[in-house]
Amino acid sequence: MNKILKAAVIGAMLAISSSAAMADAKNPKIGFSIDDLRVERWTRDRDFFIAAAEGLGAKVFVQSADASEQRQIAQIENLISRGVDALVIVPYNATVLNNAIQEAKKAHIKVISYDRLILNSDIDAYISFDNEKVGEMQAEGVVKVQPKGNFYLLGGAPTDNNAKMLREGQMKILQPLIDKGDIKIVGKQWVKDWNPSEALSIVENALTANNNKIDAIVASNDGTAGGAIQALAAQKLAGKVPVSGQDADLAAVRRVIAGTQAMTVYKPLKLIASEAAKLAVELVRNEKPAYNSTYDNGMKKVDTVLLKPIPLTKANVTVLVDDGFYTKAQLSSN
Ligand code: BGC
Repeated sequence: MNKILKAAVIGAMLAISSSAAMADAKNPKIGFSIDDLRVERWTRDRDFFIAAAEGLGAKVFVQSADASEQRQIAQIENLISRGVDALVIVPYNATVLNNAIQEAKKAHIKVISYDRLILNSDIDAYISFDNEKVGEMQAEGVVKVQPKGNFYLLGGAPTDNNAKMLREGQMKILQPLIDKGDIKIVGKQWVKDWNPSEALSIVENALTANNNKIDAIVASNDGTAGGAIQALAAQKLAGKVPVSGQDADLAAVRRVIAGTQAMTVYKPLKLIASEAAKLAVELVRNEKPAYNSTYDNGMKKVDTVLLKPIPLTKANVTVLVDDGFYTKAQLSSN
């Protein structure tokens, strides 16, 4: 190739790549890969995320893995081949996405871990509520009602790093009381896929094994709390044994009002979704996001945006109405 031709070809190539980059930055394409849209909270995350991202000029492609790690990997690969500029991922299994994320990085795609930390992978950023704090709030909420006695710990999914962080927070509150002899942990179990029916049978078995002598249940989210409370109700113990939760699911908030669930934790989903959309767009535009923490995911220290959860009891559920999370009518129609 002669010199002039070569220069012209390089010039044309540069023009194409810079105009593509410019178009991407102005209207980025974001793939949102969600573990499980069959679970109430994630549908709200999706809706808030799309609204915020579109407001910033982005286009969002959503996929739900329905609690299957193979499906999630295939969906991420599909999003990569559709040419997304950023991937926002709620991992089903924290430890199996390394290869898919390597592929994304090769394609210069920014990768953001949403709500749950992806472990041992080269992700660009993490955004979540402070899960350890959520765990502390759950234990505190239950201890406030039942400061002594036999406690049962109902953990989240063993595939979800949040389940472990929640447990760490719970134990921060419980351990001193165990050491003092006020509290005895009579059993603990992780709940596969955070499945409410699995939680129901775990608590049924725990009640049988302990002759119904369980005084409190520290449950790690509202779905599993629902299963636990169903098991308690069958023994006429609902409302007598405090149970914690998180998410402010509608059914759970109604249980809090009715007195069968001691507390839940409200995590303003509009906030995490809109902050995540902003984060994704900023990373694509090579702007500097405002991080306020870092988490070690086993491979690197990941830049993190950490948001504040809010504990909810019967005394302050109206926060949800004030915040537009539910209408007054939704909360009063039991
Ligand atoms: C989330 C919870 C949710 C649970 C089950 C956790 O990682 O932080 O809000 O209830 O997953 O989907």
